[in-house]
Amino acid sequence: MPLNACELEIDLFCRGMRIPEEVSLEGARNISRTRAGLGSGLEVAIPTGSWLKREIYANVPVVEAFASTSPYLLAGSAAGYRIVDERSAHAYPVRLPQVPHWYGRQTSRGVRMSEVGVLQGTYLGIYVNPVCTFWNYKPSLNCRFCTTGKNVGTAEAAVKVVEDVVETCWAAREESGITFVHLNGGFQGTRAIRTVEPFVRAIKQHVGLLVGVQLTPHADFSVYDRLIDLGVDHFSFCLELFDPEWFERICPGKARMIGQDRFLRAMDYCASRLPRGAVSGEMIAGLEPIDTTIAAIERITSVGAFPTVCIFRPTVGSDMESWAPPAYDDMRRVMAAVHDACRRHRIPIGLAPNIEVSLVVNPDDAAMLVDRNVGFYSYEIWRRALRVLAAPVFWRRMRPAGRRSERISAPRTLSRHPSAGS
Ligand code: SF4
Repeated sequence: MPLNACELEIDLFCRGMRIPEEVSLEGARNISRTRAGLGSGLEVAIPTGSWLKREIYANVPVVEAFASTSPYLLAGSAAGYRIVDERSAHAYPVRLPQVPHWYGRQTSRGVRMSEVGVLQGTYLGIYVNPVCTFWNYKPSLNCRFCTTGKNVGTAEAAVKVVEDVVETCWAAREESGITFVHLNGGFQGTRAIRTVEPFVRAIKQHVGLLVGVQLTPHADFSVYDRLIDLGVDHFSFCLELFDPEWFERICPGKARMIGQDRFLRAMDYCASRLPRGAVSGEMIAGLEPIDTTIAAIERITSVGAFPTVCIFRPTVGSDMESWAPPAYDDMRRVMAAVHDACRRHRIPIGLAPNIEVSLVVNPDDAAMLVDRNVGFYSYEIWRRALRVLAAPVFWRRMRPAGRRSERISAPRTLSRHPSAGS
């Protein structure tokens, strides 16, 4: 039996894919090693053939060691690609999202826009702070799966400047139709939140996208009130692992300097201040026992937040690059649990327009994994009705707050620059 689109997405995350030399990736998004390094795969869009969703985006591992023995093989050309499973000879048609023209452009300060932000699925990801300070300790306290300390300043600009970020956001909005920008920045002590404020203010003022912030949690929760007042639409908290021993082993910096409890309390606080489904708790599946990950999913959804569950990837260059990726059956069970918990706790997943995250199995992708019963259909009808009702709210929040005459406009800025239009 062929896999459905979500099952294929999960299996690709677990097994990776080979790309034969003769298969040209012309025009496809380049494999980019930015931020924590999770986007190091090939972006593919898998048609679902289902009324639940048109396409699923996945950033498929292709450079990690385990991908070299994958049964999945990319075939075809720009006229039409497919992923062939050599075990069964099933061929799954896929689309390779194209590299946007703005990647090759420079901001008016001369910074290449792809070094400012990258598309991961349909949203723009920007690492706004200096390198996470966990990398500066001796011995290093970095999370063992992460490569931020090797990517920021190499594959992407070391320091992000507000004007560059605004122009890149504008270009991504105008040309790639993004609706959401995700700002993250690792650990910076108490400075991190203050560093992110000018970016939020400028994006809301000049571009008007939905803005998400992901930073290690602050001890003083009033900083979240300030960010909500500035217009932040979404917070995510990377707890990663729920088992205290696994947390300490894989995330030594977070364990020593912050602690699991603060992650959970900050998530609870923000979830109590924002609408249901506006806050997420981020987990990594495939390291600690599966039942522990499922308990974390239950904990996150119980406060009205949604779980963003990343399938562990032994990223090249990370301390864990020689670890094995998790098993498909375990990951399918976890993702089905995500949808089940979101349904039972009435989390309105998939509400915001055009946000498809390629690094994780989106909670609404997981609708393809669960039984079709009365509970399933009533949840699907409920969240679709909410999406229609919420649309005007989102469009209002995506309007720039500043006066037109005061806004930084990407098209005008870009056309002034000699290297524009590459
Ligand atoms: S907090 Fe951990 S995952 Fe985040 S940037 Fe720092 S080392 Fe990487």
